[in-house]
Amino acid sequence: MKGEALSTTGQLLGTVLAVQANFYRVQLDLGDKETGRQGDKETGRQGDKETRDEKNNCSFPPSPPLFVPPSPCPPLLLCTRRTRLKKIGQQVMVGDRVIVEEPDWSGGRGAIAFVLPRDSELDRPAIANVNQILLVFAVADPPLEPYQLSRFLIKAESTGLDVVLCLNKGDLVSTQVQSEISDRLLGWGYQTLFMSVNNNINIDKLYYKLQDKITVLAGPSGVGKSSLINALIPDAQLRVGEVSGKLSRGRHTTRHVELFELPLGGLLADTPGFNQPDIDCTPEELIRYFPEARQKLAVDSCRFSNCLHRDEPGCVVRGNWERYEHYLEFLEQAIARQTQINQQADPESTQKLKTKGKGQTQYEPKLESKKYRQKSRRTQLQELQELYKDDE
Ligand code: GDP
Ligand code: ZN
Repeated sequence: MKGEALSTTGQLLGTVLAVQANFYRVQLDLGDKETGRQGDKETGRQGDKETRDEKNNCSFPPSPPLFVPPSPCPPLLLCTRRTRLKKIGQQVMVGDRVIVEEPDWSGGRGAIAFVLPRDSELDRPAIANVNQILLVFAVADPPLEPYQLSRFLIKAESTGLDVVLCLNKGDLVSTQVQSEISDRLLGWGYQTLFMSVNNNINIDKLYYKLQDKITVLAGPSGVGKSSLINALIPDAQLRVGEVSGKLSRGRHTTRHVELFELPLGGLLADTPGFNQPDIDCTPEELIRYFPEARQKLAVDSCRFSNCLHRDEPGCVVRGNWERYEHYLEFLEQAIARQTQINQQADPESTQKLKTKGKGQTQYEPKLESKKYRQKSRRTQLQELQELYKDDE
């Protein structure tokens, strides 16, 4: 049989949907059946074009050329990672575009041989190639808190990805109130999609916004995120139960990140890790995460290039816009955080800032650290993030 001939030699392109222990659930692309080859839309690579993948230090694509899986084919394979990838320290993340070899169709297994270069990489949650953040809030129950919304928006903007803002529970307020909220958020620089998951309002519009993209869902608890996932993907829970083997513990496992396939195409991730956003950018970066301020800076510049937009002369950002107060508050937090990082990074300093419970800080003498290898800035940052996380 033709399919069987391909099954031992074929190489396939796919996306990693979930990672657990040393297993990877990979959704395979359905290739161009005419040519029997697969192109990679996102990277613009073509199946027959030889390109160098620096990270993997290998030629891409490997020969023989990529094959279309036999049809009808199982869209999902449970894969291991080739030893070669382990040796070169190549991690495989959820969202990664990968090449799978030696598919065993009857057992639903395969092996990841290559990881394609990533377009983007989120930290928490750890997902590669995300296109956009879907931020869900409720218009009521829980009430819409502008400051909390702003905080989530800043966090979402800081990823550099597109932000889609949805307000759920539209059924709880009048259209008049909806339009007032909509106008207000337009002033912040956001188009808002009102919806009601319970009443199936505008779920169809959302489908189209999510189509063919990798989207990360975020928002505070109680706004209807789980309801939304179940509405968008009716068999989300069921399917988790169906997968055999080590992945079957599903999305309820701690820190488990999973991409769900949307019926019209596209992948959606639920993100427990994103839901208590801390302001972790530098003071200088912060202003870029306010679209309404970005607009001002696109047409004019502050006198000083390092302007923090407080009381500096010749500032074009400071002024009469609704979220300026939010900006000032987040700026204080960003400055405090950077001061803390600088103190930890300064090897001459004999004191260090210690964070106690409930966010209180105090200076303590630093321990002799000469004989230890100095930590990299990145490690310090990670430790700090862990510290914040523990305080939450
Ligand atoms: P999550 O914490 O964000 O995952 O929120 P859930 O999906 O658990 O929903 C929290 C509550 O909001 C549940 O009682 C839902 O039934 C309710 N809810 C979800 N969507 C809607 C909606 O469109 N309208 C109303 N009135 N309630 C909703
Ligand atoms: Zn300024």
